[in-house]
Amino acid sequence: MPTLPMPIVTFNHPALTQVCTAVGPDDAVDFTASMVQALNGAAGGVGLGASQIAVLKRAIVINPRGKKPRVLINPVITSHSDTQDTDPEGCLSYPGIDCEVKRWRVIEVAFEDVDRRPHRETFKSFAARVVQHEIDHLNGACPVGVAWRDGGR
Ligand SMILES: [Zn+2]
Repeated sequence: MPTLPMPIVTFNHPALTQVCTAVGPDDAVDFTASMVQALNGAAGGVGLGASQIAVLKRAIVINPRGKKPRVLINPVITSHSDTQDTDPEGCLSYPGIDCEVKRWRVIEVAFEDVDRRPHRETFKSFAARVVQHEIDHLNGACPVGVAWRDGGR
């Protein structure tokens, strides 16, 4: 089945402030192929949350090294380092805007792959930052979006 192209939504789109719901055991996950396609089509994109294509399900795609996108379904941070780093973050849904965000340097994440196999994996530094940013999207709380809305627009 061909993947349905789905555009990345931006700025005032209502999906961006919604809390996404868990992907149920029998739910279709073909929307993640649209996420991969959208991320691949976005120059310099390193990650995408499902709500960024207006799908209100808990799935993210990450590509921190710009090589191959990975899909994480129902990602949950199960533990993290004591140390945090502050660095600027941008967002495909708020182009042209960035802001400084404090993130855990190392996180352990439980998630499922597209075949719904469970995994537990450690992410560090930039990859950890990308995962944390995209999980913020699943909670309707992208920090770049928060900064944009706080800017009074
Ligand atoms: Zn974002």
